[in-house]
Amino acid sequence: MTKYDVIVVGGGPAGSTAARRAAQKDLHVLVLDKAEFPRVKPCGGAMRQYGVDSLDFKIDEVIQRRTYGPRFFSPSGLEIDLTVDEPDGVMFMRDDFDHLLLKKASEAGAEVREGSAVTKVSEDQTGLTVTTKDGEEFRGKYVVGADGINSVVAKSLGFYGGWSGNSAAVAIELEAEVGEATVRRICGVPHDKEGMAFHIYFGPVPYGYLWCFPKRSILSFGAGCDQSRIKAIRPLFMKWFEDFKKQHDIDPEIVSDTAARLPYSGAVKTTVKGRAILVGDAAGFANPFSGEGIYMAIRAGIHAAPALGRAVKSDDPTYLRDYEKAWKAELESDLKVGRDVAKLMFKSEKNMETILQLGHKDDYIRETMYLMISGKESYKVLKNRLTKRILMKHPRAGLSLYI
Ligand SMILES: Cc1cc2nc3c(=O)[nH]c(=O)nc-3n(C[C@H](O)[C@H](O)[C@H](O)COP(=O)(O)OP(=O)(O)OC[C@H]3O[C@@H](n4cnc5c(N)ncnc54)[C@H](O)[C@@H]3O)c2cc1C
Repeated sequence: MTKYDVIVVGGGPAGSTAARRAAQKDLHVLVLDKAEFPRVKPCGGAMRQYGVDSLDFKIDEVIQRRTYGPRFFSPSGLEIDLTVDEPDGVMFMRDDFDHLLLKKASEAGAEVREGSAVTKVSEDQTGLTVTTKDGEEFRGKYVVGADGINSVVAKSLGFYGGWSGNSAAVAIELEAEVGEATVRRICGVPHDKEGMAFHIYFGPVPYGYLWCFPKRSILSFGAGCDQSRIKAIRPLFMKWFEDFKKQHDIDPEIVSDTAARLPYSGAVKTTVKGRAILVGDAAGFANPFSGEGIYMAIRAGIHAAPALGRAVKSDDPTYLRDYEKAWKAELESDLKVGRDVAKLMFKSEKNMETILQLGHKDDYIRETMYLMISGKESYKVLKNRLTKRILMKHPRAGLSLYI
């Protein structure tokens, strides 16, 4: 039986990136994904510019829109325009984007097997055996668990049992064909006919938000909230969506309607165990405030490769710890502070309204909010800056957030 240096389970952004970067280091890499690509992935398909910049190839062929920042809408309907003069993010359909990333892993030399659902992973002294639904077995020196929120790798190897309580969000994603002119009418920005703003709505769902994201001729709508705070998200989402359709005078054809869970960072105690590591959603890398996970998945894949390279070359699994050190150094603080920001912002509808009202009337707060959403500065610095400004300039409103 062939023994691979690395078997990557899951060919989403985390797995494809880890596989490409590991193959570029001359490692013998196998990617197993249960799906046939292009495959549907429930997702808003929004990524900030620094995600694009992290990749070592161009993604222009899959970009549907360039975005100029968000417009926020408060529970009372107040609009806070956080758009800027230059595009700072992109929108794509996940089936196209993920397919491109997987092809890039293959181009770099990784062997890719689609339609291979992994059911079990077991470890012994010299490596791991990965078993698929069809009963095939593959041997690897190391395994990367990139198989998303329901990770078989994580469960098989005892990383964790699942996502209970407030460790994950539940989310709905609906794609509506409205035509290019309507996308422009609703999300357009004045200075670029093709560029767009993306819209975020606070209030109609507890502990989370709704969105309207512009694609070429499609508007992608969705809602996400902490799974422990809600019995059913769909009725709230549908009520909001019906109001939205009336308000904007649209009657779109729904081309896709999906739902999935999204893991919040902080629940996974370790991302390295024996000869295996977890990346992306399998490791719980989504930002608890923004729900953003694609960028973190890509970064995890990038950080995984050097550690895997060292572990393979020295035949020493302890080098995998370098992966955990590297992602923590880059991402941990923002993910932690993201959780704090979510706690304060999503605490109540009153808090959402107060914070957004402050952003509406205070330019400094509005600019800081934009920096947080755009990822141009660390969450920690921005959270401190916001707290100080609110307590100094708006003490009554500021104190009311904590009551
Ligand atoms: C509704 C919704 C909207 C979102 N919107 C955004 C957004 O706009 N921007 C953003 O940044 N993030 C968004 N996210 C989060 C983002 O989608 C994830 O964080 C991201 O996809 C994580 O990438 P990944 O590679 O870790 O996992 P995934 O993209 O989930 O990929 C996992 C892969 O593993 C495969 N797999 C699973 N099980 C097995 C198995 N047993 N055997 C073999 N293969 C397997 C799957 O087929 C899949 O291809 C959203 C999430 C949801 C639920």
